[in-house]
Amino acid sequence: MIATLVLATRNQDKKKELSALLAGLGICLRMVEEFPDAPDVIEDGETCEANAVKKATEIARYTGYTALADDTGLQIEALGGNPGVFAARYAGLGANYEDNWRKVLHEMEGIPWERRQALFVTVAAIVQPGFEAHVADGSLRGMIAERPIGDQGFGYDPIFFIPSLGKTMAQLSTGEKNMISHRAIALRKAKIILQTITEQ
Ligand code: IMP
Repeated sequence: MIATLVLATRNQDKKKELSALLAGLGICLRMVEEFPDAPDVIEDGETCEANAVKKATEIARYTGYTALADDTGLQIEALGGNPGVFAARYAGLGANYEDNWRKVLHEMEGIPWERRQALFVTVAAIVQPGFEAHVADGSLRGMIAERPIGDQGFGYDPIFFIPSLGKTMAQLSTGEKNMISHRAIALRKAKIILQTITEQ
């Protein structure tokens, strides 16, 4: 197993979840901010996998350590699959979480409950410097709520309702979210990959 893993994300919310999900592996986790001038990787891929692989590859190349990146998309059937891979900037460049979910709620106005299905998809990529990426994915089905509920989590969590729990994702603690989320499912697979790859 590798000794050091760099998390290739500057998003503090994702970092909190990823660090908890990777705890107990016996790997030294390092953050991309620890490497001055590490590139700010532009997420211009057309798929979550392309973006995750690009982020992990560039950070592995820059730091010389194995890097893990994740990329998440939200597919809403009634919106033709939007926001999809463009979830971070759905309401435009510089949009914050609330701008983005408000845009979704606005576009979903009048859409009945039975047509509000949504799917979160996360792809995690692990790259050892100079090697091809390993990828792992995870997804979670839910419904788009009619109004935001909850103040935990981040991103679209306040409007992502999980029928089996009767709650939105923003009503779950990090620990509860990390038991069921799209990211947790992808990271469970990524952990198995990390346990099987060796230091190069
Ligand atoms: P990224 O491309 O993986 O950074 O994610 C794009 C956007 O998706 C983020 O800016 C968030 O708005 C949203 N997002 C990512 N992960 C989650 C999550 O676990 N819950 C809710 N929204 C998320």
